[in-house]
Amino acid sequence: MSRLGIARALVVGALLAPAHAAPELKMDLPDWGATAVIDRDLGHGVHMLESYGGNIGVLAGEYGVLLVDAEWPELNDKVRAAVEHITPRPVRYVVNTHWHWDHVGGNAAFARLGAVIISSRETYRYIVAEQNKSGAGGAGAGPYPPGAAAAPVFTVDSGTQELHLAGQTVQLIHAPPAHTDGDLVVRFVEADVLQTGDTFFNGFYPDIDFEHGGSIDGMIAFYDTLYAMCGPHTRVIPGHGPVAGREQIRGYQAMLREVRKRVAAAIISGMSEEALVASHPLDDLDPVWGGNLVKQPYLLAIVYEDLKSKGLVRR
Ligand SMILES: [Zn+2]
Repeated sequence: MSRLGIARALVVGALLAPAHAAPELKMDLPDWGATAVIDRDLGHGVHMLESYGGNIGVLAGEYGVLLVDAEWPELNDKVRAAVEHITPRPVRYVVNTHWHWDHVGGNAAFARLGAVIISSRETYRYIVAEQNKSGAGGAGAGPYPPGAAAAPVFTVDSGTQELHLAGQTVQLIHAPPAHTDGDLVVRFVEADVLQTGDTFFNGFYPDIDFEHGGSIDGMIAFYDTLYAMCGPHTRVIPGHGPVAGREQIRGYQAMLREVRKRVAAAIISGMSEEALVASHPLDDLDPVWGGNLVKQPYLLAIVYEDLKSKGLVRR
């Protein structure tokens, strides 16, 4: 596994933290017992559950519950308790915004209780590929447990699909390649809430999974679409971080444009990735954006390798 892959595993929890991870990228998992799941009521039956992993959107209705994303499995009891605090109805649908473990780790637990898992076609493929991975421990050696319960059963290919639940129109919108090439964003139309998955991290540097079709250019371009989906009062549930509005989306796009500009300039000047990281080119941005899961060396590495791998920057 590459240094970058190790770092991604630590950031998004795709794998358990290996002991030989680069020290500057090492990230410890939390004390699960001490990690709270906090309920934010956004009105119209829509809630956001905020904890260590990806934010969860909840739509509670008379006949059951729709969840958007499913958190780490270690938090499943607390997520279920938070949902039960909102409504006694069962979880009937779980939408996966993308394949990363901190968003889909709870799939199996909800599926065993009868929920239908929904994702993009790409997310389905990536989850099944992880389930089938052979390696030191054989199939299922990673955290993605083998078995139908953990994989989506209904997939969205492209465009927009709608669910009609609890008096809400729930749009599942297949984004163009951004964080991955299989991102779904979810719009609760009547509640005026937009859930972005990891196409948007509110308040700190992003992860970009360019090995699964994501790119910084795709992220930057997609903020125009996300902004256009928002009105002045739209509440945005980001992949990570607190509830946001459309101005945070604009600000985030500006930050990523600046990061891209600096990394592209370094590549054009012939600088190596190691020299770029050592030059600390984002120190002025760190006080605002560098204080959470994703640190400057990791972001520089993924943007450098993304731009290089796609041949987007030439001398
Ligand atoms: Zn992610």
